[in-house]
Amino acid sequence: MRTTVGIIGAGPAGLLLARLLHNAGIDSVVLESRDRAYVEQRQRAGILEQGTVDVLRAAGAGERMDREGLRHDGIELRFGRRRHRVDFPALTGGRSVMVYAQTEVCKDLIALQLKEGGPLLFEAEALAVEGADSDRPAVRFRHGGREDVLECDYVVGCDGFWGVSRRAIPAESARVYERAYPFGWLGILADVAPSHDELVYARHERGFALLSMRSPSVSRLYLQVPADTDAQTWSDEHIWDELERRLETDDDWTLERGPITQKSVTPMRSFVHEPMRHGRLFLAGDAAHIVPPTGAKGLNLAVGDVATLAKALVHRLRTGSEELLDAYSDRCLRRVWQAERFSYDMTTMLHRAPGATAFEERLQLARLERIATCRAAEADLAEGYTGFPLD
Ligand SMILES: Cc1cc2nc3c(=O)[nH]c(=O)nc-3n(C[C@H](O)[C@H](O)[C@H](O)COP(=O)(O)OP(=O)(O)OC[C@H]3O[C@@H](n4cnc5c(N)ncnc54)[C@H](O)[C@@H]3O)c2cc1C
Repeated sequence: MRTTVGIIGAGPAGLLLARLLHNAGIDSVVLESRDRAYVEQRQRAGILEQGTVDVLRAAGAGERMDREGLRHDGIELRFGRRRHRVDFPALTGGRSVMVYAQTEVCKDLIALQLKEGGPLLFEAEALAVEGADSDRPAVRFRHGGREDVLECDYVVGCDGFWGVSRRAIPAESARVYERAYPFGWLGILADVAPSHDELVYARHERGFALLSMRSPSVSRLYLQVPADTDAQTWSDEHIWDELERRLETDDDWTLERGPITQKSVTPMRSFVHEPMRHGRLFLAGDAAHIVPPTGAKGLNLAVGDVATLAKALVHRLRTGSEELLDAYSDRCLRRVWQAERFSYDMTTMLHRAPGATAFEERLQLARLERIATCRAAEADLAEGYTGFPLD
């Protein structure tokens, strides 16, 4: 099998890259180890930055998003039983975010790819990237019980944190920056209308809580829990009780309960692999970097990477110039590190670190108080949340 761009992974990064290349007349093959239903049901991100919305629209993948997505003009911070709303458009010159689940972004891109794009092979597991620093890189993969080889001009690893593509880069050519957090998020999906019309980020002595939503009738809520928590040890009632405690306010706000349809625990990690290129192998999205979900940045970074890479590949194939491909890693990493910083700041401001001293807890409150009372600090949060500019 042969193609111009071999893409490993059909998450948002791989699917969008295939779409952008297709629109530019460049052929690609996408290899995805899981089946279609799994990829379309995997619950993850839900916040699209303005730049992500613009890229999806320009790619012709924004029709359902524009119909069903919910524009959000702010978030609420809760601390000390008080509420403070951050007004995005007022603080950023008009920017906002869109609530539209990653599952839906993937469904839309998969449908387009299968209808109009190049091959998208499900249950096709990449085993290794070979010859990354040669002119003829290839992906060895298993599909339908057989091993095969995909020969390419370029390979793009969009296979997430646990994928194989990063392993093809020799350790001496790379540098890894990493931080694990001693807590994770217990996330639930519940068939109940959201109890607030915008996301609520709550700092509480018992730990962080987040109220978010997937649609006007489906809520998505999270609780900070120890990293090694088994989600099944939390009964539904226990989860609702704890959410109620951590989201409590001094006014008459109440949390609506409903049937929980899904629960799982997500570990929290910061991770950056530099550079994001080795020869003709490029890394994009979670394959190259991970952020804790507090800043809602992971999916948006993946979109930023592939938008930059698609432009560079088109430029190379149309003009023969390697200039943009050579700049790819540095350009993406500038944005990645801003998102890493923002996600780290949000995480450490809102979560209760095990063993935190009383002094550190007061500092957290002081940081929140600063945002609530100083327009410059609030604008900094609003700019980070709505997104660092795409290249
Ligand atoms: C609970 C949670 C909440 C989140 N909330 C947000 C949010 O609000 N906003 C936000 O922007 N981000 C959020 N994120 C992060 C976001 O989901 C990820 O950053 C995003 O999925 C990255 O996309 P990706 O395409 O790079 O990787 P992935 O979505 O991980 O896709 C990688 C794909 O590669 C496939 N694959 C792996 N190995 C192989 C192989 N060997 N061969 C073939 N295929 C392979 C996988 O099956 C997968 O389909 C959240 C994440 C979690 C877990």
